[in-house]
This record gives sequence, structure tokens and C-alpha cells, in this order.
Amino acid sequence: MIKSNTAKIITFFLLSLGIFSCQMPPDRTLTSADGTDGNWLLHGLNYAETRFSPLTQIDSSNIDNLGLDWKLDLGMKRGIEATPIVKDGIMYLTGPWSVVFAVDLSTHQLLWQFDPDVPKSFGEKGCCDVVNRGVALYDGKIYVGAFDGRLIALDAQTGEKIWETLTVDQSKPYTITGAPRVVNGKVIIGNGGAEFGVRGYFSAYDAQTGEQAWRFYTVPGNPAEPFENEVMEMAADTWTGEWWTYGGGGTAWDAMAYDPELNLLYVGTGNGSPWDRTKRSPGGGDNLFLSSILAINPDTGEMVWHYQTTPGDSWDFTATQHIVLADLLIKGKQRKVLMQAPKNGFFYVLDRTNGELISAEKFTYVNWADSVDLKTGRPVETQWARYDQANVDIAPNYDGAHNWQPMAFNPELGYVFIPARETFSNYGQDSTWKYNEEGFGTGVGWNLAIGSLESKPTIVDEKGTKQGKLIAWDPVNQKEVWSVEQNNIWNGGLLATASNLIFQGTADGRLTAYNAVSGELIWETELYTGIMAPPITYLVDGVQYLSVITGWGGGYGMKNKHTDVVLPGTLYTFKIGGDAELPQKPIALARDLINPDWEVDPNSIAMGETLYNQYCGTCHVVAETGGGVAPDLGYSIMVGNQAFEEVVLNGMLLPNGMPQFDDRLTKKEVEQIQHFIINRVMQIGK
Ligand code: CA
Repeated sequence: MIKSNTAKIITFFLLSLGIFSCQMPPDRTLTSADGTDGNWLLHGLNYAETRFSPLTQIDSSNIDNLGLDWKLDLGMKRGIEATPIVKDGIMYLTGPWSVVFAVDLSTHQLLWQFDPDVPKSFGEKGCCDVVNRGVALYDGKIYVGAFDGRLIALDAQTGEKIWETLTVDQSKPYTITGAPRVVNGKVIIGNGGAEFGVRGYFSAYDAQTGEQAWRFYTVPGNPAEPFENEVMEMAADTWTGEWWTYGGGGTAWDAMAYDPELNLLYVGTGNGSPWDRTKRSPGGGDNLFLSSILAINPDTGEMVWHYQTTPGDSWDFTATQHIVLADLLIKGKQRKVLMQAPKNGFFYVLDRTNGELISAEKFTYVNWADSVDLKTGRPVETQWARYDQANVDIAPNYDGAHNWQPMAFNPELGYVFIPARETFSNYGQDSTWKYNEEGFGTGVGWNLAIGSLESKPTIVDEKGTKQGKLIAWDPVNQKEVWSVEQNNIWNGGLLATASNLIFQGTADGRLTAYNAVSGELIWETELYTGIMAPPITYLVDGVQYLSVITGWGGGYGMKNKHTDVVLPGTLYTFKIGGDAELPQKPIALARDLINPDWEVDPNSIAMGETLYNQYCGTCHVVAETGGGVAPDLGYSIMVGNQAFEEVVLNGMLLPNGMPQFDDRLTKKEVEQIQHFIINRVMQIGK
């Protein structure tokens, strides 16, 4: 009693001096975050972004009893890529259009919802759907990067807006899809847009006030104007031509990690804008800092080191993919490493203290480079990789051997798990390319020369059709431990747990669990809508739960789907012994290809196709896969009548995110597009 009172008095005394608080300071809470308290406080669970939960209540002995406990329909279609944050029984997650949801994990009810009201006309500024990868939580505030470029701070209890700041020039096609990270009281956020022609950067804002602390550009601007810093001056020496007129690219749209001990923030950067280097930097050059990993002092925004995975990128080989930090025993030495499996198909292990390349090996089929030279740190490109003489099938392709879907690292097994894929695409010179400020401008001549020039190498037979692959990778010995081939190329991000489980959602609507040691599929359940988001796990009242959000879409999902229908995004939560009713298999309505009473004008088809490719083809298909989140126009009842014009020119479906094109297309051009669509349907219908 006396002891306890003394302690209380001392605590009161310290509190009044402001020396001691019952709650840990917010920065220390984050640096020590590792999931042992049952929370999921940071995007990748911890600052090292391992996505490795120490929770072991769910294991391979009881996983047969893992069942649905509850679900919450979020009421929104379009893609969901969010990793939720969980603190003390409340979950914070994001849906399409950067809408934030706070959910009470005891009552399973929505606590609040915040819609930043992103103008629907901004939808067309993104290459890859109006997705969002989640919020950050810091000192009672929730931070979300809105699709239209605003960074917004909300009261975590009420969802009320505390501040917002515009992080981009909204006259340019910038978007935010990534989750902010908070480091040392600053909110860090980048952006996307390299397919449309922007200059990449990321910035830090004061978490309390929203005031900008620093900004780091990832590519140099016009050398006729003063450089922002010496690093930009150095980077400009690696560019030629007038790259700044096209933006240059290098957008930092996803990956970050932080080492509190070294006080280094690691950021991955994106592809060149346009893709083909001969268009943006005709005299060659490495084009720093495209496709690079940058180590930044988070207090000042100064660069400490850089490593470029793909010098002079010409393939959309971003290095924005998940970055994982670990301490590994390599050749008898304990090394502080940074690991990344970027789009280009090599698995990189770097010394994160100085950026030195330790090793790099192919984790999928790769033909653009033979190897990475450990002395120079540079890839040894194959002679035809730059598709300057002929069209070439390049593996991997722009979808990447690995894209944004997060990996997971089990430090006890020493394995990195990669949601990978085998892909290839044909790349060629686009002789007609010119900078299109408003459109998807890659500069890569797809289909241009196929049939007239030799396409090499022919890897289609070798690797079969495109497929997904879940890989367990040993980063010390740089080799595959096991892998599972999957039917679809666009499966979800990963979660690893200390009970040696791997969880993954799939494009065909299943939530699956694998034995992390053997790769054996040990549990799965049907949710009937494609899953891209990574699952998370946490405790509520001492019980372990597993949550995942369904929600099909993304760049690939706009045009394709692998379930019968696409249902609205839903938060599903599982536990051992959960016995809530699972969703029923939805019944897909049979549809017929359009059969309009229209006489196709043969003279309009070619122009219609050109316009279709420029304005429609990034989101829609015609009589192919039935479409993904965006309808297959071969089945659209709008085609072949007045409604088509109402939609395309007058914005009838703008509230759904279908852009309005009256500023770019004439009535006659809209008709030409219809002639093209109907002609294609008629040809396929035959
Ligand atoms: Ca890209």
C-alpha cells in the first residue's frame, strides 16, 4: 500500500514535470512497434516493413477451424489495396477514392467514415484505378493521401478533418495512391503519374500543422533554372535532351521503410516518363534517380546514398516495390540489409548503411539482363533488351515480376515471401510518339511492328501463359526455397506469422494460407471477389483475428477479372471457431454481345481504333474478358445508341468515375469509336 502510494506520488511528480508519461511518446511507440502488443500500428507492421506478425494463436494445428467471425460491406466497387492500421480495438482502412473508414472491432460497426470528396473527373489521371494503400496513425491523428494530391489529417476518434494541404500541382496528372509514413513527427508522402508525364518527388509535412518541412525531387528539372540542390545538379549529368518537358518521371508512389538507429528513410522511385529512354533522353544516360532506392535523412530531406536498380529504364521497371529491412548473417558477417524485389525481376540485397550492393539474382524468368555485376552494381543487359532494332518480347513486363503487392519476411526462417509472377510483353519503337500531356504516353510501340519485324526471343512457348507465382526466397543464398504456381497473375499482398503461416488473397476470390516451411496450401475459403489487399492479424481482448478486404480493380483489374462478378469491397474478419455465414456464390447474369442495328462505316474503323486506343483502351476491353471493374464495351448496352454519346461527351456516368471527353472528342469522333467497337464485336461474333 505504502509502496503503491509512493509510486503514485512519484508518478504525479514526474508527470507534473512533464518528464514521464503513462503513454509512450508517439515516436517511441512507432519505433518499438512489432505487433507483440496485438496492434498493427504501421503500414508494414513495423518500420522495417516485415509484415511478420509474432502472433501464434492461429497455427497449422487449428487452422481447419479458422472461420469467418464478421464482415462489413464497404459499399464501394473499384479496387481496394489497403493495409489496415489497428490500435486498441479500432481499425482504420481506406477504400476507393481515398475514403477512410474507422471500425470498432468489438461491435463490428463503423465508427466513422471520411470521404475527401475527390472530384470524379480526377479518376482519369491515374494509370491504375482510384485505389489507396492505407492510412498512417500518429499521436491521435489519421493521415490519408487523397487521390487528387491532398494530404489530410483527421482526428482518429471522430474522423473530423484537422488540416489538409495540397502536395501537388493539380493542373498536372499527379495522383496519390500510397500510404503516408510518419517518421520523427513528419508525414512523408510521394505521388504517381509517370505514365502521364510528371516530375516525381516526395515531401515531408509537420504532423501537427501540415506545414511542409522538405521536398526531394527524384529527377532533375530544367537545367536553365537553378537546381534545387547539388544532388539534382549531379543527376542532371545523367540525362540528355529536353526530358523536363515530359516531366521525366521517377515518381515515388509506394515503398518506404525506416531505420530509427541509422535515422535513414528508404524510398523507392518509379519509371521514366515516357517509358522509352530514346524518347525522353535521346543521348542515353542512366537518368538518375529513376528506378532507384534512395536513403534520405528524414529530418532534413538530404540524400545519403542511392542505388539504381535499372539504369536508363526503358521498360516501366519501377523500384517502388516493397522495401524490407533485416539483419542477416552473410558470409560470416552480420549485415544490416535492405531487400527489394522490383519489377525488373532481380532480388536485391543492399547494405542499408551505405547502399553497397551485396547480391542480386533473378527470382523469375528474366531476359532483359543476364546478371547484375557485383563490382559495378549494374545490370548486364542483353543486346536486344532496348528494342531499338526490332520489336522484342521482354520478360518481365510493365506489370513486373513483382508489383506493389507487399512481400513478407519471416526472420526466424530467414525467408522472404514474394507475390511474384512470370510475365512478358512485346516492346518496340513508336515512331509516331509525341508527348501527350493529357494521356497515357509510354512511347512504346505496342503491336506496331509485330509480324513485320522479328520478335525475339520467343519465350511464349518456353514459359507458357502468364501466371502468378508465390515464392519463398532465401535472401542469404539468393535462391528459391519453394514456389507455388498460380492461375492468375494479379494475386494479393502477403502476411507472414510466427506460427510459420503465409496468408494471401487471390484474384479468383479466395483467401488462402500456406505452410511457410513447405509451401503446402493448408487452408482456403471462397469470398467470390478478387483480393489485392494484404491480410493483417491482431488481437482484440486477447484473441487473434485475421482481416482482409476484398475489392477488385487496380490497373490490371480495370480490364480483367477472374471471378464471375465483382462485388463491392468488404472487410472480412476471421478467428479460430468463427462461425458466421460465408458469402454465397453470386450468380452472374448471362450477357450477350451487343447487337446494335448499326451499319458499320468501313472508313471510320481505323480512326475509331486510334481514338479508342488513346482514350478508352487503358481501362476498357471489347468482347474479350468481360471486363474487370470497367465494363467490357462489347457487352455495353450504351454502344450503338444515343446513350454512348451521353456517357462519353456529356458525362452521364461521371459520378461512377467514367471520364467526360467533350474537351477532347467531337461527336464525329465518338461515332468513329462506336464504328470500331461494333465492327470488332461483329468480327468476334462471326
Ligand atoms: Ca509505371
